[in-house]
Amino acid sequence: MKRIFSGIQPTGEIHIGNYLGAIQNWVKLTETYDCIYCIVDYHAISIEYEPLLMQQRILDTALINIACGLTRDRCTLFVQSHVPEHTELAWVFNCLTPIGDLERMTQFKQKAKQHRKNVNLGLLDYPVLQAADILIYKAGYVPVGKDQYQHVELTREIARRFNSRFGQVFPESAVLESKTPKILGLDGKHKMSKSMNNYIGMLESPETIWEKLRTAVTDVNRVRRHDPGNPRKCNVYSLHRAFSSAQEVRQIGRDCRSAAIGCIDCKKILWKNMMAHLGPIQERARELQSNIGSVKQTLAEGADRCREIAATVMGEVRDRMGLTPST
Ligand code: SF4
Repeated sequence: MKRIFSGIQPTGEIHIGNYLGAIQNWVKLTETYDCIYCIVDYHAISIEYEPLLMQQRILDTALINIACGLTRDRCTLFVQSHVPEHTELAWVFNCLTPIGDLERMTQFKQKAKQHRKNVNLGLLDYPVLQAADILIYKAGYVPVGKDQYQHVELTREIARRFNSRFGQVFPESAVLESKTPKILGLDGKHKMSKSMNNYIGMLESPETIWEKLRTAVTDVNRVRRHDPGNPRKCNVYSLHRAFSSAQEVRQIGRDCRSAAIGCIDCKKILWKNMMAHLGPIQERARELQSNIGSVKQTLAEGADRCREIAATVMGEVRDRMGLTPST
């Protein structure tokens, strides 16, 4: 089975943008690939954070991902810092990566602006650790968003450099493009995010979700109830595509254009369909919350499997580099 690797930030709270943009696709990929999904706590410490909250953030992130379907019978889920070979291989790759390559990374420039008071080496070196995350498992594919394409290209470059200097060890991992449409936040303008406060959390109550949907921005040109709308300019319609049946989506499109349906009724249909989808996930999350030991067990089993693979690859790397002690 071909292997894929992807990383998840331990944000703790997952919103429907994360779910529709990544997690739902990751669950689907488990049908075809050997999937390794990693909660990247070492990446998360490259910006300011609260140590007392980190373990809770990691567990909450694992819990919601498992509730969404990333169960241990389908994939390997683990925490990055539980497999030390990630950082060991990153050091090897550091010695093969010109600083200029890292300074050119768009994400580094953005983060350096965002975190002006803490532009640390980890922030610059982030893509090298990411390359190690992927290549320590010789993953052939990486399902990531467009903002990460540059980092995957650097991963390929690092693999080429290592292979040409020390012999063939690593594959040139390819991006696995997702066909998921971009989900905007409830403001209809920006990407859904917690910091923009334009999100719907996966575990929020039906009442809270309705309150958020009720005030969500629609087609801004549809001012009065009898004005025809344009579903293509409405983010609520994009959410219908994700949660409503194809037949309902077509009907809503027609009714919106002819003003046969008002935005509140349209949102009520969306809310009903959204809750039918999120309800079982929320139920599983509640079960896991009352049995947090099973979440820890999933992460421990995942780390055991990953350490085994990573130790073998690291052994190969040391051999090629002349770092294995002679007997
Ligand atoms: Fe958007 Fe629905 Fe209103 Fe049309 S009817 S503008 S699709 S919320």
